Amino acid sequence: MKHVTVVGAGLAGSEAAWQIAGRGIKVKLYEMRPVKMTPAHRGGQFAELVCSNSLRSAALTNAVGVLKEEMRRLDSIVMKAADRHAVPAGGALAVDRESFSEEITQTLSRHPNIEIYHEEITELPEGPAVIATGPLTSKALSEKLRALTGEEYLYFYDAAAPIVEKDSIDMEKVFVQSRYDKGEAAYINCPMTEEEFDRFYEALIQAETAPLKDFEKEIFFEGCMPVEVLAKRGKKTLLFGPMKPVGLTDPRTGKQPFAVVQLRQDNSAGTLYNIVGFQTHLKWGPQKEVIRMIPGLENAEIVRYGVMHRNTFINSPKLLLPTYQFRKNDQLFFAGQMTGVEGYVESAASGLIAGINAARLVKGEEPVVPPQTTAIGSLAHYITHTDPKHFQPMNANFGLFEALPKRIRNKKERAEKYAERALDSIEEFRKQVTVSS
Ligand code: FAD
Repeated sequence: MKHVTVVGAGLAGSEAAWQIAGRGIKVKLYEMRPVKMTPAHRGGQFAELVCSNSLRSAALTNAVGVLKEEMRRLDSIVMKAADRHAVPAGGALAVDRESFSEEITQTLSRHPNIEIYHEEITELPEGPAVIATGPLTSKALSEKLRALTGEEYLYFYDAAAPIVEKDSIDMEKVFVQSRYDKGEAAYINCPMTEEEFDRFYEALIQAETAPLKDFEKEIFFEGCMPVEVLAKRGKKTLLFGPMKPVGLTDPRTGKQPFAVVQLRQDNSAGTLYNIVGFQTHLKWGPQKEVIRMIPGLENAEIVRYGVMHRNTFINSPKLLLPTYQFRKNDQLFFAGQMTGVEGYVESAASGLIAGINAARLVKGEEPVVPPQTTAIGSLAHYITHTDPKHFQPMNANFGLFEALPKRIRNKKERAEKYAERALDSIEEFRKQVTVSS
């Protein structure tokens, strides 16, 4: 029987390799790190989380919570590792990034059906193959992909938030609390008065940013907009965005502060915290000055500065089928961020479906498409049915789901209904794709 080549052992490629190998098909998994690094990854482990350590909401009233639950039921390696290496994060599922990636690397390395090669792929492999080289696909392969697709790549920026050492935070000035006291108290909150906020705001909008590269066009994805770009839209954008104080009460005053900067635990030891929503393109010197204006962070030790990167994705509505197959060559699959799904969980989810289908192709079975009543199916539907002229990457959200038969006005009830229907549908889908022994 043929093997499947998987290119890229990020979130999507790791999940795809696991799904294929689990179906008894041999996999050749190519990952260029650590031989060749991307501008954002730090090491050679698989499924590295390049920015936040959060896989976002754990709640089933949130579409990404539903997506995670669906993936658990489809035997996702990413979800298994995430659940095992979770760290406290209120209503979210956040992980210890090191042990999370370590587990995925070890599990795939030991799998009898997987052979691993640490090398850069510079030519498109013969099919069957899954291309999952992510938003930072190496230049040589990007050029080959561009030639293959015949389409212009779309470029835009993503941004990473800074990480600070907990020990360097002045705990006298901050308080530990989760918004609306949801889950256990998990966030460190730096409260600001109006005067402090105004001073901070002025410094943020004046601070110098790193220069942009010529080939990158200025298209920002709203979900990962640099904090200084948000700030330039006006004070309220921050006060209703990353610095919103709602649901938080400073125990020292008994009141809601004027503005709040939140920090979330970044490793299981609890020694590192990232500044939530503060992805930034500021130069490192000015970045440090601005961060140190935040009450409690006057002496913050920054272990990783916020940075910005190129993001590459293909025009999936024109190029892909909902099975994640390339329209012009059904032996070729795409998965991950480069298909225009946005986010760690979404990338892994697309790898899961591409992997199932690559294995089915080798076995002579029909590829499958999860129904649009599920989160995982709604993403596949979105990236292949949107107007190609206005295609933008997208996180999981209930807006992508097939509409409910009856309109429900109450938001929570509506979300519950979506979730209930999704989990029923995924059970049906699971039966269809379960590996027969
Ligand atoms: P990746 O995880 O990047 O995996 C692709 C892999 O392919 C990499 O390991 C790479 O080394 C390898 N590779 C590339 N080219 C080649 C080649 N030619 N040959 C062999 N191997 C190759 N999402 C979130 O949900 N939360 C965040 O906080 C977040 N922050 C982000 C910050 C940045 C800077 C970027 C760029 C993206 C961020 N994203 C975030 C978006 C997205 O979820 C991640 O990029 C995610 O890792 C995408 O998964 P993937 O599998 O598609 O790509």
